[in-house]
Formats: sequence, structure tokens, C-alpha cells
Amino acid sequence: MHHFHYTGQKLHCESVDLAAVARLHGTPTYVYSARTIEDNYRRLAASLTGLDLQICYAMKANSNLAVLRLFANLGAAFDLVSGGELKRVTAAGGSTARSVFAGVGKTEAEIRLALETGVFGFHVESEPELARINHVAGQLGRKAPIAIRVNPDVDAKTHAKITTGKSDNKFGIPLKVAAAAYEAAAKYPHLEIKGVQMHIGSQLTSAEPFVEAVQKVIPFVEQLKQAYGISYFSVGGGIGIVYQDALASGDAAWWSARPEGERPLTPEAYGAALKPLLAPLGLKILLEPGRFLVGNAGVLLTRVEYLKRGSNKNFLVVDAAMNDLVRPAMYEAYHELVPLLRDSARPALKADIVGPICESGDCFAKDRTLQTVGEGEFVAFMSAGAYGYTMASRYNTRAMAAEVLVSGSRFELVNARENFDAMLAGEKIPGFLKT
Ligand SMILES: *Cc1c(COP(=O)(O)O)cnc(C)c1O
Repeated sequence: MHHFHYTGQKLHCESVDLAAVARLHGTPTYVYSARTIEDNYRRLAASLTGLDLQICYAMKANSNLAVLRLFANLGAAFDLVSGGELKRVTAAGGSTARSVFAGVGKTEAEIRLALETGVFGFHVESEPELARINHVAGQLGRKAPIAIRVNPDVDAKTHAKITTGKSDNKFGIPLKVAAAAYEAAAKYPHLEIKGVQMHIGSQLTSAEPFVEAVQKVIPFVEQLKQAYGISYFSVGGGIGIVYQDALASGDAAWWSARPEGERPLTPEAYGAALKPLLAPLGLKILLEPGRFLVGNAGVLLTRVEYLKRGSNKNFLVVDAAMNDLVRPAMYEAYHELVPLLRDSARPALKADIVGPICESGDCFAKDRTLQTVGEGEFVAFMSAGAYGYTMASRYNTRAMAAEVLVSGSRFELVNARENFDAMLAGEKIPGFLKT
């Protein structure tokens, strides 16, 4: 559920008319709904009440400072994957001491920064990484809290580029050899074994792969509890969202109209499936949701530049491009496209939705049917709150988009559109080229 809906003909985010945002701040612009994020967070937390729960928002999904502060205010910690993200948590006023540091390629400098700042745990992905963390912690005269990421070898049945729990991808240590990795960790003087971690993939739309993975890992978790007295088990993130029927899924009625078996994963179903497995462990349980918390809480506003009618194909050219929202080009992802001004009297239009970038891959959708829209009108890509702005680039010397946060009837620019001088700030022409 989310708070994007039509009031009369106009698409609103909470009580804000999105066309007003587009006119004031231009396009392309990401708009996030604070209330949707809050609802998602509270629903997920409520679905696992009774557990000693620590939600570490996977900030790579959306790391805007205002969004991070919103999460910090809700009591969330963070799942971070770089030194830059660590600094963002601090800048947003979040707690690094309750946050976890993940990723396969942590550098010495990042490890040092995390030890100096203080994190809840390093989520370790290899034996060489154990050695490196131990080394840096030794230099600082500290003990580094660690958990090893185990790979349960289950198929999350999601897109190949976002599955992580199979034995043939780069993440984690296979369950079969994880015991040896813990034995190695226990021998390092500057490591403190605190927990165990897993994360099987992203955009999962049923609870089964989670259940299968947790069941597979639980005997090992029990073993670690006995052997090392671990205090936490992180089950990762990965809860999916609705992309296809994104606008309609804002409404509770859309969910209740679906029979149980055809309903995409809800936080309630996720909690109901996992709680009975996790509760008996008596450990702190960490969740690392990213997409679920912010994905349906954001849209990307864009303006129609041209409607190019062809003999056998139409092209709707918008001012957003693959540099702003790369998911369709990168994962063949679907994003619903809706007009900011709905007019049922207009005929339907079938068109490819494309951006201005000089690449055939700069295509948001093929043969999409929507209400006819013309030059200068605004449309919105739904479900763009996760892996949207954070994956954006400056390809074609296009500036990073603006970001706006809505709360009730208020909205504020929380990231200004990048200007040309800022884009060029680090570049220079060397002396030897100047004549
Ligand atoms: C990306 C990632 C997440 C978040 O995944 P979502 O699908 O966005 O929930 C959580 N944990 C780890 C280790 C990740 O790499």
C-alpha cells in the first residue's frame, strides 16, 4: 500500500498535487512519500513483534539524507556497503553503532573508518576479509565485531542479476564450509564473533525461498550459539514490491481482492512464515530490507518532450532517461507509467517509452498502452523509490535529478538538481594541453 492516488483528475502524493511539484522544481524529479515509508516500516516491524528485532534499512536502495533521517527517527538502523554510506548515516544523524557493514570488497580504509566510528557488526564475505579486518583492528587496538555471511544455496527465483543465495555467485561463504570459516575467525585475536548473516536475493514475491533458506541455516545457527555464544542472526532483505499494478496496489482493496495464493508477498505473510522459525532461537534478529521499505514510496516525474508517431510504431520521448532510472535497461524491469492529469475522454496510445540518450537501450517500455499524452505534459514512473536515484549516473552529461520529500500537504526539495558547474568541479584541462 502507498499514498499515490488520483484526487479528481490529478495524481497526488499524499495531499500534494504532483504537477505542482513538477512545475516548481522541474523534471526529471524523484518524489518520495514519507507516510508510505513510515507505514511500510511499521507494518514490517509489527509483523515480527515478540522477536528482539533490529531493522537495518539497506540504504543502497535510497540513501537520500532526508530519507535516512526519516528512518533514524523511526528507530531504524542501517545496512551499509561502503565508507561513503557510513558517512551518510552519520550526516543524517543515524546510529552507526546499531548499523551493519556488508559487501564483498571492503577496503582497509573503509574498515578503519567503520572501526573508528563504531558499527554493530562487519558482515564478512570471505576468509581473506577476516584476516584484513583482524589486521586493521589490531593496528587500532580494537576488537572488531563480526558475523559471517553464509550462502544457503537456495534459488530465490528472481532476476539473475539480483539473486545472491546460489552457490555460484560471489556472495557469502557456502554453508558447507562456513564452520571452518568460523573456526578461522575464532583464532584471530582482534575479532569478536557476534552473529551470522544471510541474504538470498532481491524482489522476492513469495515467502517460500525465505523459509527454505532460514530452515537450511537454522541448525548451523544453533551450532554457532553453542560454540561461540553468538547474539544475532541477520536474515537479510529481499521482500519484493508490486511493479505491474503499482498504482492500484496503493489501495487496500486491491490486496483483499486477490485470493491468498495470488497475493504478492506482504510483510504480514513474511512475518507469519518466519516468526515461528526465528522465535525459538532466542537471538536478536536483524532484518535488512531495502526495496520493500522505499520502492513503492517513490515516483519519478518526467515531462513529455515529443510524441513521435511512426508508420508502425509510436515513440513517447520523455525527459528522463536510463541515466536517471536504469532498472528497465539493466534488469528489463517494469515500471508503470501514469499521467499526472488523468483524462478518460482521451484515446489510448500505444508507444515505446524512450529517453533522450543516444543508445537503443534507453527505453523504459516497449509497446506500452496508456492514455494519450502530448508535449509538455507530465507523467510519472511508479515504484521508483528503490534503486532509482542511487543507481543514477551522469551519462550524456545529464545532471543528477532533483529529489523531493512529501509529508501530508507539505513538500520540500531534499536534493537540488545538479548544476553544470558542480558536474565539472573535479575536472580540469592539464597544463601540458594548454597552448
Ligand atoms: C541489497 C541488500 C539488501 C537489501 O535488499 P532488498 O532486496 O532491497 O531488500 C539487504 N542485505 C544485503 C546484504 C544486501 O546486499
